[in-house]
Amino acid sequence: MPNELDTMNRRHFFRSSLALAVAAALPYRRACGAGTAQLSASDLQGLRGALRGALLLPGEAGYNAARRVLIDTIDRHPALVVQPSGAADVRTAVTFAREHELLLAVKGGGHSDAGFGTCDGGLQLDLSSLRGVRVDPATRTAHVAGGSLLGELDHEAMACGLVTTAGTVSHTGVGGLTLGGGYGRLARRFGLALDNVRAVDIVTADGRLRHASEKENADLYWGVRGGGGNFGVVTAFEFALHPMQRQVVSGSLVFPLSRLKELLAAYAEFSYHAPDDLYNDFIVSLPAGKDGVVVFSLCYSGAPEHAEAVIAPLRKLGTPIADTMKAIDYVAAQRSGDKTDPRTDTVHAHTGFVDDLNSGLINTLVDGLAPHPQRRAILFFQHAGGAIGRVTPSATAFPHRHATHNMVFNVAWPRELDPVAHVAYSDGLWNRLGRYTDGFYTNEVVDEPANVVEANYQGNLARLRALKQKYDAGNLFRLNANVRPDAA
Ligand code: FAD
Repeated sequence: MPNELDTMNRRHFFRSSLALAVAAALPYRRACGAGTAQLSASDLQGLRGALRGALLLPGEAGYNAARRVLIDTIDRHPALVVQPSGAADVRTAVTFAREHELLLAVKGGGHSDAGFGTCDGGLQLDLSSLRGVRVDPATRTAHVAGGSLLGELDHEAMACGLVTTAGTVSHTGVGGLTLGGGYGRLARRFGLALDNVRAVDIVTADGRLRHASEKENADLYWGVRGGGGNFGVVTAFEFALHPMQRQVVSGSLVFPLSRLKELLAAYAEFSYHAPDDLYNDFIVSLPAGKDGVVVFSLCYSGAPEHAEAVIAPLRKLGTPIADTMKAIDYVAAQRSGDKTDPRTDTVHAHTGFVDDLNSGLINTLVDGLAPHPQRRAILFFQHAGGAIGRVTPSATAFPHRHATHNMVFNVAWPRELDPVAHVAYSDGLWNRLGRYTDGFYTNEVVDEPANVVEANYQGNLARLRALKQKYDAGNLFRLNANVRPDAA
C-alpha cells in the first residue's frame, strides 16, 4: 500500500498549528493561576507520598515521553504528570487537580487530534501505566484497564476465539475511542465499541470511584457511551465479546483516479447493500505531484469461503492496478495500518457524517478533488451502518445512528509553505461538501466552537448537560468534546 494510504488510515490530522495553540490556551487561561506557581513543595511532596504510581515533574526522567501525544507538533508542558498504578491513584490525582484548580488532561492512547491528552501548565493523568486485558471466556467478557490500547484487547480476546469492535489502528487508546464511539472493521456487525460496553469503573470529579452499568448508576452508564471523557476517568471497562474465527479476508483493490466518478457511484450502491460482516472504506488518495488512486479497503469477517461471492460486484469493476485481498489473521489485519508517518506536514482536516452518498455529493467531489504539485489530499468514507444504525439515537449518548458513512477530508502540505492557498482549497471544497453531511464524529473534534461541539450531541444534549451538572458541575473534565454544565 502506498504511504499516502497508510497516512490516511492513521488520520494524523489537525486543522492548523495556530488553531491548536489557541484551543490549548483557552482552557488553561480559564484555569488561570493553575500550574506550578500555586503548588508548594509540600503540596507536591504530599501528592508524591499519596501515590503508588509515579509523579513526574518537568526535567524528570519519563516526563517528556509522557507529555507527548501522537501528533508530534503538539508540544505542551504540563506542570506535573501522574502515572497511576490503579484507581486509588486516579482518585488522588483527580482530587488534587480539583482542589488546586489545575487544568486536568487525561491521556489514554494519545490519539486525539486536538491533543486533549496533554496540556500546558496543568496536571496530566497519563493512563499508560494502567494497561491490561483479562478475558473471561465463560461469560464472553473482556475486563480492560482504562489506559489499554486496542491491540491488547484484540490480542487477548482473539486468543480465546472472541472479538469485540475496535478501531483500525492498534495503538489507539481503548478509552478515547470507546467513550466517543468506536468505528472499526467489526462495527457494522457488532455495533460501535461503545455498544459493547457492559460496565465501567469511573472516577468522577468528586474523586469517588463508581461502577456504572445498566443496573448501577444507569444515568452515568448511558452518558459515558458517547459522552467522551466528560464525566470522569474510566479506570476499567467491561466489554461484551463475540465468537469469531481468526481468519478474515482483508485488503485493498486499487484503481486509477480517472475512474473516480464511476467507482464512487458503484461504491455508494455496493456499500449500502453490503452485509453486516463486510466493512468497506472508500479512499481517494492524491499524493503531491503524483498520480492519484482510488481504493476499496475491505475486511470480510464472515466465513472466508464466502468472501469472493460477497465482493463479486467489485470484481465486475475490472482489473485493479493492485489487489491485496487475502485471507489474513484478524489481529494482523488490525495492525496493518499501524505504521506511522513522520507527520512533518501541516494537515487541515474536515469530517462529517453522510447518510446519502448521492449524485450531488459525488459530482462535487469529482469536480473538486484535484492533484496538486505540493500538497496531498485524502478523502475517504469510513463505512458505517449495519448494526450501528439499528440502535436508537437516544439509547446511548451517541446520536449519529443514521450515518451510513463518515466522510473525512485531509489536505497536507510541507510546514515551510505558506498555508493560505492550501487552507483556502480545503475550506472551499468542504464548504461545498459540508451540505451533504449531518453532524460529525465527536472523536474527531479539533477546534470547533463550544456551541458547535455541544449541538453535535443533537437530541441527547439536554440529558448530557443534566448529567454534567450532577457529576462535574465545575467542568473539571473539559479537555474533550465538552458539554458545559452551565451553558444557556
Ligand atoms: P487520547 O488523546 O488519549 O484521548 C482522547 C480523549 O479521550 C481525551 O478527551 C481523553 O481525556 C479521553 N480519554 C481517554 N481515555 C480515557 C479514559 N480511560 N477515561 C476517560 N477519558 C479518557 N476512531 C474510530 O472510531 N475508529 C478508528 O478506526 C479510528 N482510527 C484512528 C486512527 C488513528 C491513527 C487516530 C489518530 C485516530 C483514530 N480514530 C479512530 C479516532 C479516535 O477514536 C480518537 O482519536 C480517540 O480520541 C483516541 O483515543 P485515545 O485514548 O487514543 O486518545
